[in-house]
Amino acid sequence: MRKFSGDTLLVATHNAGKLEEIAALLSPYGVRVVGAADKGLAEPEETETSFVGNARIKAHAAAKETGLPALADDSGLEIEALNGQPGVYTADWAETETGRDFVMAMTKAHDRLVNSGAPQPWAARFCCTLVLAWPDGHDEVFPGSISGRITWPMRGDQGHGYDPIFQPDGFQQTFAEMDRWEKNRMSHRADAFKKLVAGCFD
Ligand code: IMP
Repeated sequence: MRKFSGDTLLVATHNAGKLEEIAALLSPYGVRVVGAADKGLAEPEETETSFVGNARIKAHAAAKETGLPALADDSGLEIEALNGQPGVYTADWAETETGRDFVMAMTKAHDRLVNSGAPQPWAARFCCTLVLAWPDGHDEVFPGSISGRITWPMRGDQGHGYDPIFQPDGFQQTFAEMDRWEKNRMSHRADAFKKLVAGCFD
């Protein structure tokens, strides 16, 4: 496992919230974090069919362009009875001509489950894969996940994306009914970050 040894990490995201969250998580390790927008990087097309494939595209493109070690993530929801869909197409299911509509996306997931005839509980998991890539082409991969079930109707108004229909194992609330701190502590992203820190920063 290669350790991160520099002082600056490029985070291959244009999402300011994600950048801030990652900067806070890595600040105890003396890491200065810069975002893709700060370096004027384009967003590469995510053409792979797996989370690790797409995270690799983003991390390697950013590392090559900037000469800095670069961190990227890719995440989504896998529903067992739908053969892992929407998976890497989780955000795409919400696309409309006027922006993303997650109520539509959640309804689509529920309709497909009902039409599939799959018995409840409908097992599902959120996945997040982090890739840390270096300019010489080396990378380290950290997959994270959290298991649960799809519930219906939607419940809760916190969080984002598919949170109102995801109930993690061992809890009665959906992600959208939990406070942000509680969700962030147990999430697929937290799982992947724990592995990244243990592997490359500790
Ligand atoms: P990306 O990795 O930022 O491309 O995210 C993929 C999509 O997965 C997002 O648009 C969300 O719809 C969904 N997603 C990822 N993580 C979560 C989560 O924690 N809650 C709800 N939806 C999520």
